[in-house]
Amino acid sequence: MSVNGSKNEFADKVALLCFEKFNNLPSKGKPILGKEWTTLSGIVQSDDENRLMVVSLATGTKCIGKSKLSSRGTVVNDSHAEVLARRGLVHYILGQIKLARHHDVETIFDVSSPNCRLTLKPGIKFHFFSSQMPCGDASIFPKNEDCRKRSADTDIGSKVKKQKVDDIHRTGAKCLLEETKQDLNLPGPAYHTVGAVRTKPGRGDPTLSMSCSDKILRWNHIGVQGAMLSLLIDPVYLSTMVISGQCPYSHTALHRAVVGRLNTPGKTYPSLLRSSLNFQDSKHSNPLSKPCPSSVLWRIGDEFNNDGYHEVLVDGRKQGVTKKTMDKPSSASVVCKKSLFDTFKSFNEKYSSMTYQAVKSEATAYKQQWDEKTQQLGCWTEKSKSLIEFT
Ligand SMILES: [Zn+2]
Repeated sequence: MSVNGSKNEFADKVALLCFEKFNNLPSKGKPILGKEWTTLSGIVQSDDENRLMVVSLATGTKCIGKSKLSSRGTVVNDSHAEVLARRGLVHYILGQIKLARHHDVETIFDVSSPNCRLTLKPGIKFHFFSSQMPCGDASIFPKNEDCRKRSADTDIGSKVKKQKVDDIHRTGAKCLLEETKQDLNLPGPAYHTVGAVRTKPGRGDPTLSMSCSDKILRWNHIGVQGAMLSLLIDPVYLSTMVISGQCPYSHTALHRAVVGRLNTPGKTYPSLLRSSLNFQDSKHSNPLSKPCPSSVLWRIGDEFNNDGYHEVLVDGRKQGVTKKTMDKPSSASVVCKKSLFDTFKSFNEKYSSMTYQAVKSEATAYKQQWDEKTQQLGCWTEKSKSLIEFT
């Protein structure tokens, strides 16, 4: 089989596993077929025997505006599927670290030197899946570009004949005010500028959350683990990114947005693949539908919770939360900052009396890389310190 053939086959396998997992979840929180659309993202793990399994899965299109941000860390600000799926992965990895350290069970980590930072076993890889292009920079490309064949290697710039561009696909994500590149908002192809750092679209109340393209760009250069986990483990990178279906796609735009805007010498970047399989609830398959207001979040079970974790989120909290129950720990998602932090502290005594902010600032190597990348990009949003000072 040709390399291309097998790449496409792998992309379809990853997509299919995510669709199957999604279809097997209860209908609560899913889009109403034909009336609502959503984005589906997932993380598939593979091991040295090429066994594939979904470890985290999420849907979602919503993001909370500036005025609704929580200072307790109990609300998930950004519920785009891509971001929730990463948070599910972080929750899964936290569970694996806890098991590797304190229990005699098989995990994804190499435990030959248990007192040092943990490293993934050599065969463990993570493959990211999404049912559409990430919002922000990756979503900006000529409309005639996606008519081409899906083969991942034939639509890389140089082999493609120059075509006249009549119009471009647009994103609701807005350029940061500090960004030197700004959209011209002119009709046709001059509407957007490419390569800019953007915040997520939000109705009315502007968001402080960065677009998925910008966040994924970070993951691909400094890892998906985040500051807190960087204290315990070596960086974790995505090996593959799969975009599915008949939705608009451009390899060139995806590469630019999630890899090419930064440069990390010596770094291997994920393979960017396209699957032919279509997500039934995508915007593309349901052009007249509305975005689904709720999100579904699932992550695989482990020794602590055999059944896995399944939640339905609305406005960044568990569905069904009222004003009265809002501040109860049971109303918060397992992947909100506070819950992830509590899990982290539960098996890291050293940090048990520290604030979230204080723990994050312990991660000096991570912070240095973060600052370097921010400098290369030119800008990033600053969230108020009061939002990360919780204990
Ligand atoms: Zn997004």
